[in-house]
Amino acid sequence: MEDFHAPRRLLLGPGPSAVHARVLQAISTPLVGHLDPTFLNVMNDVQAGLRHLFATMNRFTIAVSGTGSAGMEAAVVNIVEPGDAVIVGVNGVFGTRLAAIVERCGGKAIQIEVAWGQIIEPNMIAERLLQSGPVKAVALVHAETSTGAWQPIEPVSAICRKHNILLIVDAVTSLGGIPVEVDQWGIDVCYSATQKCLSCPPGLAPLTLNERALSAVKNRRTPCQSWYLDLSLIADYWTEHNRAYHHTAPISMLYALREALRVIEEEGLPSRFARHRLNSRALLAGLMAIGLDPLPSPDCRLPTLLCVTVPASIDEGAVRSQLLERFGIEIGGGLGPLKGKVWRIGLMGESSTEANVLTLLNALEEIGIQHGWVSTPGIALQAAAHTYSVGR
Ligand SMILES: *Cc1c(COP(=O)(O)O)cnc(C)c1O
Repeated sequence: MEDFHAPRRLLLGPGPSAVHARVLQAISTPLVGHLDPTFLNVMNDVQAGLRHLFATMNRFTIAVSGTGSAGMEAAVVNIVEPGDAVIVGVNGVFGTRLAAIVERCGGKAIQIEVAWGQIIEPNMIAERLLQSGPVKAVALVHAETSTGAWQPIEPVSAICRKHNILLIVDAVTSLGGIPVEVDQWGIDVCYSATQKCLSCPPGLAPLTLNERALSAVKNRRTPCQSWYLDLSLIADYWTEHNRAYHHTAPISMLYALREALRVIEEEGLPSRFARHRLNSRALLAGLMAIGLDPLPSPDCRLPTLLCVTVPASIDEGAVRSQLLERFGIEIGGGLGPLKGKVWRIGLMGESSTEANVLTLLNALEEIGIQHGWVSTPGIALQAAAHTYSVGR
């Protein structure tokens, strides 16, 4: 085998996002054993950092070994038992995946479907609850990465409390980019992933459960059918003063996550959220100036992922190839029904910078002028620059 030289890419797709140099350094530091006392401190730090990010006091706050889907699966497989009904909001790829996992657990997924790009209105859930029999949980995607839709959570939590139902929230593309208030919003189970707004390589899934959720796990009638993701077993490793072996922790990934959490702490969450908001506003202004309009309506557009409709006159696949080959820029295409119709541009974590916004807009303008769908050079950059000059 020859050496592999990774090309330099500007990662502006739906994930992974750019990784901070300090995180890359942390991941290459020497290994210690997964029960080494120094490593147990790393775990404590990771747990504290994740609690801060999730805005929770939940004792059970851990990093699941695996990517975001492992977090999703851990959340569902531990709560849902055969026969349990779960209301799932389905407005994109990840709601669809949640429903599939519920069914694989032997549960019944009651899907509330809306068009991709829209959100699930809280009253749709309230109405469905009146018609359905007993329901164990409601599962929603806070930030639907396949459409750029920003799902409100707090009003749904009030409905769940009223019916004594658990609320499971996918915060994969929101955690670290927009506020996720686990305790204040009353979320019972919340999971995320490291490679989106935390700007860490893919491989861990932050997960938090409150006491209500933990008692549902403890009072199961049947054992969790996943041994690897069984939280009642994993808990023994993540509980301080216990730290019993379950599976070997991905040591290097936990080094990386700890450093990523330090970087986030140094910036401060309010500044981080403001940075994500400003850069997405500037990018959106630039995109709209060249005729690329966002899919979700103005009241539910994510700052961490912009999904814009590509006019039929533009060969969207060819533009993405040119971006990658000529400029080293990665953006995402559409999935499922949106394939060939949208671009998905991620401004997550380290990738959310003014320089990146201007670089992408400049590249799109150049390509657009060459192919005739941009007629006024500088128009997108000007719109973005205007946002930056008035927006701070
Ligand atoms: C990326 C993503 C996932 C899945 O994460 P993987 O790391 O790809 O397994 C789940 N939910 C949402 C909303 C995502 O964006």
